[in-house]
Amino acid sequence: MKTEEIRDVLIVGAGISGLLAAKTLHSGGANLLVVDKARGVGGRLATRRMGSGVVVDHGAQYFTVTEPQFSAIVDDWKLAGIVRPWAHGFRLQDGTLKSDGKARYVGTTGMTAMAKDVARSLPVRLDTRIARLEVRDSVWLATTEAGDRIFARALLLTAPVPQSLALLNTVHAALPDTIKAELEQIQYSPCLALLARLERPSSAIPEPGGMWLAGGPLSWMADNGKKGISGSDHAALTLHASAGYSEANWESSAEEITATLLEAAAPWLGSPVLETQLHRWRYSLPKQTYPERCVAVASPAPLVLAGDAFGGPRVEGAALSGLAAGAVLAKMLR
Ligand SMILES: Cc1cc2nc3c(=O)[nH]c(=O)nc-3n(C[C@H](O)[C@H](O)[C@H](O)COP(=O)(O)OP(=O)(O)OC[C@H]3O[C@@H](n4cnc5c(N)ncnc54)[C@H](O)[C@@H]3O)c2cc1C
Repeated sequence: MKTEEIRDVLIVGAGISGLLAAKTLHSGGANLLVVDKARGVGGRLATRRMGSGVVVDHGAQYFTVTEPQFSAIVDDWKLAGIVRPWAHGFRLQDGTLKSDGKARYVGTTGMTAMAKDVARSLPVRLDTRIARLEVRDSVWLATTEAGDRIFARALLLTAPVPQSLALLNTVHAALPDTIKAELEQIQYSPCLALLARLERPSSAIPEPGGMWLAGGPLSWMADNGKKGISGSDHAALTLHASAGYSEANWESSAEEITATLLEAAAPWLGSPVLETQLHRWRYSLPKQTYPERCVAVASPAPLVLAGDAFGGPRVEGAALSGLAAGAVLAKMLR
């Protein structure tokens, strides 16, 4: 068991909200640590490799930009070659082009590219799940699944809200009752995501390589080759089930879900499937959001909650929430 110094801030979650909060605090000189239970950074910005090194995005597929604060960050990413615009809209299954004129951006090497860039200069500890939280003499004590103890003057939680609330369960009066009751209302849509590696590139998914679907089990289909992240001679599709199908079939076997989603995608496959991977996103998008960009309380010890349930149910919302959380924590530490 390892016991450490008292840090200024412990940030739980190396998704885009936790990382942007960390960047703000780090540049202000805070002694912080970001921890994540996963093996890589990014959270729901998730890119995976399949057989023969094919790169596939299986969480968020693209992001949009509306607010100047996020736009400034995206401009830097564009200049550094970390993101590029993909499309302004996609075709529906009847071939109609649906566009709202907004650019959809993607990471040039996959959606984790932005998170990897932000994390580069930050102290991040991966494979580290926080299992228990306590407050001792106004200092946070977080115990990891492996039994390591991390002390911090302030705590930022960026996991999906039900997971953050579950962690806070062991802390007496961690949140005022009114705030806790509001947070308990926040629910998320699940998403069953199937990755399918094909023998040959699919010619059936129209340019630019993404499609919105409705009325069946699928809501989204992307060709990662046409999208430009898996190499154009590689064939790997991302199939997202609709929220309705995902909820109704959450407990179904992987074989059953895989068969149904591949059947729904059959008109666009155009080549034999070599390999599939199913990922169950229990928390994909929040159905409700909190009216502020983050929640901050000073007692029993400084605590902030952030993430897409606060800034808006998208990558941009999560980013804006992380920036707000970083600014609030910087003030709390002063
Ligand atoms: C299938 C899917 C499709 C999506 N499509 C889009 C899209 O096209 N466009 C768009 O803008 N958005 C999309 N989104 C939403 C977008 O990905 C999220 O809004 C955004 O990435 C959330 O960032 P976050 O930092 O708030 O949370 P997360 O990315 O979820 O980060 C939270 C982190 O906390 C970690 N964590 C949780 N509990 C613990 C613990 N106990 N100990 C340590 N670490 C812990 C998790 O591992 C995770 O990395 C999609 C999401 C999914 C799942």
